[in-house]
Amino acid sequence: MVSINILGGNGEIGGNKILLEHKGTRVFLDFGMSFNKNSQYFCEFLNPRKCSGLGDLFEFGLLPDMNGIYREDYLAHMGRPAEEKSLDAVFLSHAHADHAQYIHFLRWDVPIYCTQATRIILECLQETGSNTFSDLIDACESFKFYQNGKGGLSRVDRKKAEYIHQRDFHVMEEGQRISIGSIEVEMVPVDHSLPGSCGFIIYTDEGNIVYTGDLRFHGSNGHLSQRFVEKAREAVPKWMLCEGTRMDSTDKDSEAEVQKKISGLICNCDGLVFIEHPIRDIDRVSSIFSAAKENERDFVIPLKLAYLVEALDSYCPFCIDDVKILKPRKNWGLINKSGVAAEQVAQDYAKWEREFICRSNSITCDDLNRSQKDYVVSMSMWEIGQMPDLKPVNALWIKSSCEPFCEEMELDEERKMNWLTHFGIRHENAHASGHASGEELRDMIREICPEILIPIHTERPELFKGLI
Ligand SMILES: [Zn+2]
Ligand SMILES: [Zn+2]
Repeated sequence: MVSINILGGNGEIGGNKILLEHKGTRVFLDFGMSFNKNSQYFCEFLNPRKCSGLGDLFEFGLLPDMNGIYREDYLAHMGRPAEEKSLDAVFLSHAHADHAQYIHFLRWDVPIYCTQATRIILECLQETGSNTFSDLIDACESFKFYQNGKGGLSRVDRKKAEYIHQRDFHVMEEGQRISIGSIEVEMVPVDHSLPGSCGFIIYTDEGNIVYTGDLRFHGSNGHLSQRFVEKAREAVPKWMLCEGTRMDSTDKDSEAEVQKKISGLICNCDGLVFIEHPIRDIDRVSSIFSAAKENERDFVIPLKLAYLVEALDSYCPFCIDDVKILKPRKNWGLINKSGVAAEQVAQDYAKWEREFICRSNSITCDDLNRSQKDYVVSMSMWEIGQMPDLKPVNALWIKSSCEPFCEEMELDEERKMNWLTHFGIRHENAHASGHASGEELRDMIREICPEILIPIHTERPELFKGLI
């Protein structure tokens, strides 16, 4: 019998955790964090306690309490006896936190299957992210001591290589079917607001399953989603797990239109242009890059994005040398002080950042000030603190990201508007969603024509009734 158990992503947008069981084979499709559930109990300064291991996450239903899937260092710290592994694999549709973040809590010997770009993004998230649950590529044993040089006990940290365990990653290629026990899984790329996104077709001798992951048709890779639909239809699926983020939306979005609009807005501005965008949405980043080029401006990106662009290599349509990298003043702010030794400057930056601040295409706020009309600057609330150094004149802020959907984001938006008012910066919008519209979803479902339709990643599952 095929069993499909939705342990996250049911009646909510994200937090996807789908347990698939067939003849003793057990796999998860995605293992994400539910922003919604998490924000009901936690916020920026109130997080699940590490000392509880998995306890706080079980307490509030953020993770399902199951045997044999979670990391043993956490279980031991909770006083739970060692458990035998009970999971054969996890398949990640993409690296957005609501699909992948909680692999941090999984045993490191659980095989993880994903695309190459997804693996790269997870690597970047682990290296440059600010999240505490970021053992995504490898895991460092927690709650362990080692004998230090003075004969005492020290706590294990990432400097102790022998306590770091590589996760068992497997990169999936298009067209390849992976056999796991009694099932076969095929990765099919889709268009979404993150590179490397895919859906899955799962083949069993009792019927096939299609999982859309997150998808859209209006990005620059819309043809991938079209092909996904064709492949899914050819699989004659019994079940279809279909995302429905925008099931209630009729808005016709288009990434090409976003680029056009951004280009026009830049054209009409004679000062600095700031642009706020999802930092890892390379499709959007490329649209901004092209819009800047059309207006003969340089695109200036933050260190985190520089790290990602370089790591993605050919998965990013432009190269790191085609843009400028903004080196912010941090801590002591020695970057633009004359007569300061390079190693003193470097101490202001994290290890991964240091390599970028010496690049020939890295620039400071002072450089931006000197010719404000020559730049388009990637900006967010993470970077906005540099604004007093920029002293913008006739500047424009383009919001190229989604509208706030929770209280915390609304507060952030309000705070941002205060900054913009303070510096006399104009505000405009240009955005397209990462998800297909209701009409596109309905067309896709009719085309794929499954026997059983299972809505996921949606707050409107009732809108899926009567479609097949
Ligand atoms: Zn999602
Ligand atoms: Zn997503």
